[in-house]
Amino acid sequence: KVTVIGSINLDTNLRVKQMPRPGETVHASEHYSAAGGKGANQAVAAARSGCEVSFIGGVGDDAPGKEMLGSLKREGINTQGIITAKKESTGQAFITVDDNGQNAITIYAGANYAFGPAEVEQNQDLIKDSDFLIAQFETPLAATIKGFEIANDAGVKTILNPAPGMAKNPADLLKLTDIITPNETEAETITGIKVTNEKTAQMAAVKLHNQGVKIVIITIGAKGAFYDYQNQRELVPAFKVKAVDTTAAGDTFIGAMTSILQPDLSNLKDAVLFANKASSITVQKYGAQPSIPYAKDIKVGK
Ligand code: ADP
Repeated sequence: KVTVIGSINLDTNLRVKQMPRPGETVHASEHYSAAGGKGANQAVAAARSGCEVSFIGGVGDDAPGKEMLGSLKREGINTQGIITAKKESTGQAFITVDDNGQNAITIYAGANYAFGPAEVEQNQDLIKDSDFLIAQFETPLAATIKGFEIANDAGVKTILNPAPGMAKNPADLLKLTDIITPNETEAETITGIKVTNEKTAQMAAVKLHNQGVKIVIITIGAKGAFYDYQNQRELVPAFKVKAVDTTAAGDTFIGAMTSILQPDLSNLKDAVLFANKASSITVQKYGAQPSIPYAKDIKVGK
């Protein structure tokens, strides 16, 4: 069982020949909307991998909000902890991709910041009933800290995906974090160490352990994922596939990993292997949530 505190966005995807420059207007050759937001993506990945998922977050009292709530419900996710903000609109991301595969993203966070520690406290039973609590940095830091405190007190394992970027002073949060899952850039932002391989990943992991994090898992794109826990550490190679769009690769990794991880963390390596497999499927398809696989499609060893 997992609870996610996180963001919910309506993603508007646009395909252009060339990015518009300031003052310029360009036409998009493709347009589609999809459910997104790191929190929602991770919740969907966990649910599709077969896990029971609850969500704490915020949407606006508007059409995108209804649409996003409906889509999370259709995934079988418990949406009882999602507040509907009266004065803020649902979070939106405008994602423009050009013919070179470069992207430019504008996010309006909106209702993702319309809740705080009080709303997390009201939903504390969801957290206490879970084995894991997952959070990222697209929602208020104070809400995440409150959630992690509740989880720590209840013996629920906390997973921090420090994305995007890094909160200004995460020391308080790292002390409450059991598992941290940065990608290479995020690992560098937190530790100052440029992570490119097993050796540099291990150096970054030492720094994170020193800040109180028990398990460090650094995803290194096509190279795979490095984990470091007590006396086990290893770079588990990624599956060799033809990647067409890596959107939601990290989100799939986290959701899939959490869905099979034992609460006593005894099968960490198997969970990383499963997560590598799941995200290797995501990168072979376009879009965020449309590309996240189901348990039946994630077969390690094939
Ligand atoms: P993020 O999406 O957060 O930047 P990464 O790029 O590190 O995260 O990707 C997360 C995981 O997705 C990797 O650990 C790996 O398992 C998988 N992955 C990413 N890119 C590829 C790729 N090109 N081929 C195979 N697997 C990939």
